[in-house]
Amino acid sequence: IRILGIEGTAWAASAAVFDAARDDIVIESDAYQPESGGIHPREAAEHMHEAVPRVVERALEHARETHDGPADEPPVDAVAFSRGPGLGPCLRIVGTAARALSQAMDVPLVGVNHMVAHLEIGRHTADFDAPVCLNASGANAHLLAYRNGRYRVLGETMDTGVGNAIDKFTRHVGWSHPGGPKVEAAAEDGEYVDLPYVVKGMDFSFSGIMSAAKQRYDDGTPVEDICYSLQENIFGMLTEVSERALSLTGSDELVLGGGVGQNARLREMLGEMCAQRGAKFHAPDPRFLRDNAGMIAVLGAKMYAAGDTLALEDSRVDPDFRPDQVPVTWRADEPE
Ligand code: ATP
Repeated sequence: IRILGIEGTAWAASAAVFDAARDDIVIESDAYQPESGGIHPREAAEHMHEAVPRVVERALEHARETHDGPADEPPVDAVAFSRGPGLGPCLRIVGTAARALSQAMDVPLVGVNHMVAHLEIGRHTADFDAPVCLNASGANAHLLAYRNGRYRVLGETMDTGVGNAIDKFTRHVGWSHPGGPKVEAAAEDGEYVDLPYVVKGMDFSFSGIMSAAKQRYDDGTPVEDICYSLQENIFGMLTEVSERALSLTGSDELVLGGGVGQNARLREMLGEMCAQRGAKFHAPDPRFLRDNAGMIAVLGAKMYAAGDTLALEDSRVDPDFRPDQVPVTWRADEPE
């Protein structure tokens, strides 16, 4: 099976070709970089409009070069695309591109949930069976585990996504987007100062800690100390809830997903927690953690193999598409 994947939920215009037989994933990405502030939905959509055709063409060129079949055969078996969650104006452009390509090549369309793709790429690269997944991305933060045909949301943020929370602080400080890597670098020279830590059962909140961090900055606390403490508290919260999710489900596998998963301190905390309880921990390569079409193509291949394709008239995008809305068709025979 060979699948073209297209991603464009927020900032990454990305296309990939996954060749299942050779386990080969080629990803072509083009990132939107705001000139100031955070991600502007309209500008991001303009970026998609301009960059999606370019990355798709590069990915398809690779697919054509490596295609062994007859020349008049399409170079891929299906087109998979991110249906959501994400920014509506961006999703609509990606949806339109995917529909047009599927019609032009006369191959099926596969609609992928972006957050489930963040999880499944970890299962793919680690060969894990029934992991708990911590999705720590820009616009989201939640724990997922499989049960009875769905990925259930075991715990989640009560307000903003984890990356967006960090980016709000760095905007306040005047640093350019994205803020996560800058906080990580500054934290190296910091010491702990007190900041809120909010976990309620399996859920958590970032709004109080972000307000307190901004306040501390305005009051003159060294920014390195705030960055260090932000990481300790935010990642401590995520690690605490991940541990509880492992304990609740009895799973001994944790995978990480999402762009914030590129952070070394978060990986270290999760790794230590897993080692202490004898669980396996897997953080995929950064190219599979941040938004990328490789994960869309990989999950698209599983869905295509399960016959889980979309009719054109049912292929509308959904900016609020939750992972627990997805019937998990591709692992029907796997343990519950
Ligand atoms: P979603 O997947 O929920 O749609 P998204 O589209 O915003 O989220 P991702 O690529 O998953 O994108 O994550 C981007 C976020 O990751 C940004 O908020 C960025 O600041 C954060 N990030 C990137 N690198 C790091 C890092 N080293 N440490 C912390 N955060 C990071």
